[in-house]
Amino acid sequence: MQQSQKQAIRLRRAVLANLGLLFNIFLCVLAQHWGYFVLELPFLLLLLVGTWLGHLVFVILIYYSINLFFKDASLTLAQVLWVIVSLTILMCFMQGIRPLVLMGYLLVMLFGSFRLTLKEFYAVTALTFLCYLSSLLFIYFHRPQDILLSQEFFIFLGFCFVLTGFVFMGVEFSQLRQNLSRRHKELTGALARIQELAITDELTSLYNRRHLLALLAQQRALANRSQYRFVVCYLDLDHFKKVNDQYGHPFGDKVLVAFANLINASLREVDIGARIGGEEFVLILTDTDLNMAHSVCQRISEQWAHQSFKGVPLLSLTLSCGIAEFVAPETVDELLERSDKLLYQAKNNGRNCIVMEQPERQETFKFEKR
Ligand code: GH3
Ligand code: MG
Ligand code: MG
Repeated sequence: MQQSQKQAIRLRRAVLANLGLLFNIFLCVLAQHWGYFVLELPFLLLLLVGTWLGHLVFVILIYYSINLFFKDASLTLAQVLWVIVSLTILMCFMQGIRPLVLMGYLLVMLFGSFRLTLKEFYAVTALTFLCYLSSLLFIYFHRPQDILLSQEFFIFLGFCFVLTGFVFMGVEFSQLRQNLSRRHKELTGALARIQELAITDELTSLYNRRHLLALLAQQRALANRSQYRFVVCYLDLDHFKKVNDQYGHPFGDKVLVAFANLINASLREVDIGARIGGEEFVLILTDTDLNMAHSVCQRISEQWAHQSFKGVPLLSLTLSCGIAEFVAPETVDELLERSDKLLYQAKNNGRNCIVMEQPERQETFKFEKR
């Protein structure tokens, strides 16, 4: 999920909680009017508005993305603690409707169970319990006439029972969230791997034909609308079948991997190397002209000739290559076909050869037979 989406959810949650506190002001003022508070209205209002404004800080922090500087960007724990402590203070001045606060506690814990870690959830449960107990003690010592012990005992038992149920539920939620997050990570990893597999050649890890075509289309679009130029080099290992026949297919695979490594080592970061078939490779040399491309291929060809293979010291391999520069507005297929034809000419010239074409001239570079 993107950060902006996460922020939107955080903001929605914080605003909802804030609206809940606003409704709480209304409810408490009504309750005060009907005599359920031992506080005068101005003091009660001070308490209620203070609580609401305190929570508004969370909304502002999230709205201006300041919450992102905190470890828990959702600020859930802080919000839950704020509301629980505020409710507890309110409860100390209530008479006759205290169980309402217990419902408030549970509602807050329900909010928390979606975001809090297991440890935090246990801590919040313990704190809620302590808050409830301390408010009872506060009332007992300041207004003992408000406490009917047998009634409080039953409410206390009931609350403990429900609280235990909430803890079980919170644990379930937490485990469910952990499982979901693990699955999400696994899926994300698998998706990345699938995406990688879709564009790479399994043996050499170079790009595959499909991705090469997509990249060529991008290069073509760039070159069609600006002075940008790029060159395609079509490379084919000479007499590769013989390598397979003589040394076996697994060795042939090693040769292909070695050639791919040579390509990777020879190209700039902005260039592209792809294996488009058995022993056929295509390079896209970006922002390059034919002469520069020729130097690159010549260097690769020379290094390939000197490539050593473990266990087969005398093996010397060659390659043939056709080089064509993109000529707007030709299609990708036309460009590839032109470079393939040049490669064909290189093969006809006896292999171990680079043929480079320019619209106005055509040159053939024949390497000396080693
Ligand atoms: P040329 O000089 O004309 O290109 O001759 P060549 O033998 O290189 O070309 P040809 O097309 O006759 O043979 C290509 C060989 O490449 C045949 C095929 O078995 C082999 N090949 C294709 N893919 C793989 C692969 O993934 N691994 C191995 N080891 N060999 C492969
Ligand atoms: Mg070949
Ligand atoms: Mg071939």
